[in-house]
Amino acid sequence: MANIGSASASVPSQAQPVIRLENVEKYYGTFKVLEGVSLNVRSGEKVVVCGPSGSGKSTLIRCVNGLEDHHGGRIVVNGSELTEASKDQIRRTVGMVFQQFNLFPHLTVLENCTLSPIWTLKIPRKQAEERAYRYLERVRIAEQAHKYPSQLSGGQQQRVAIARALCIEPQVLLFDEPTSALDPEMVNEVLQTMQALAAEGRTMVCVTHEMGFARSVADKIVFMDRGAIGEAAPPDEFFENPRSERLKNFLGQLK
Ligand code: ADP
Ligand code: MG
Repeated sequence: MANIGSASASVPSQAQPVIRLENVEKYYGTFKVLEGVSLNVRSGEKVVVCGPSGSGKSTLIRCVNGLEDHHGGRIVVNGSELTEASKDQIRRTVGMVFQQFNLFPHLTVLENCTLSPIWTLKIPRKQAEERAYRYLERVRIAEQAHKYPSQLSGGQQQRVAIARALCIEPQVLLFDEPTSALDPEMVNEVLQTMQALAAEGRTMVCVTHEMGFARSVADKIVFMDRGAIGEAAPPDEFFENPRSERLKNFLGQLK
């Protein structure tokens, strides 16, 4: 499964970040939404991204798996630069979980989980179903495999969405505010699932304002501010010594 980039043949894979962003820029029309964003995510690392609404968090992680095009700088995933030509291959190694779950409503839980493995990865159906059950067990929802998304709670739907992302056996998981659309009593079941995945040593980038999760799971927290990285630090430093007034204000508002 490893996607070894030819450009990095002489570099040991350990030394190479799973995701490397170099001076990434993006525009919506004339509006510069990302400006000079540079960030490395190493294998097994958990990065939490936070910041005010509109600061570019979703745009940033959507650029990483090619859901949005970037207009400047470089995005390198597992050693391959993200280009029009490499986009499809890279997306097969990046799992994505959205705020609104984005499950297919006309497909069962099982079918949601086998769709990409069967049609994109060309895995035989039986094998794809075994894999789906394995990850549905992992998020503790296998007994709902034959239900439709509308028959599940929000927390259950989000856990299915996580299982679906795992079914492509990605090198990295991206989460975009996975608990923001949930009723408060369902937030914990999803955070616990994410915490368990983190404990497995998975590489994760999570946009979230769940600062308890960030504190306990993140290796590095990134504060996005007006399209740029305002600050990036390990949790202790991030919370105890925020440098900018804008981060101080932001953290103050979360309390
Ligand atoms: P965040 O996830 O941090 O709330 P977004 O990445 O969604 O921020 O948006 C960053 C900025 O880009 C916002 O000003 C938003 O209005 C704008 N924006 C987002 N998507 C689009 C789009 N498809 N077209 C034009 N502007 C957009
Ligand atoms: Mg967003």
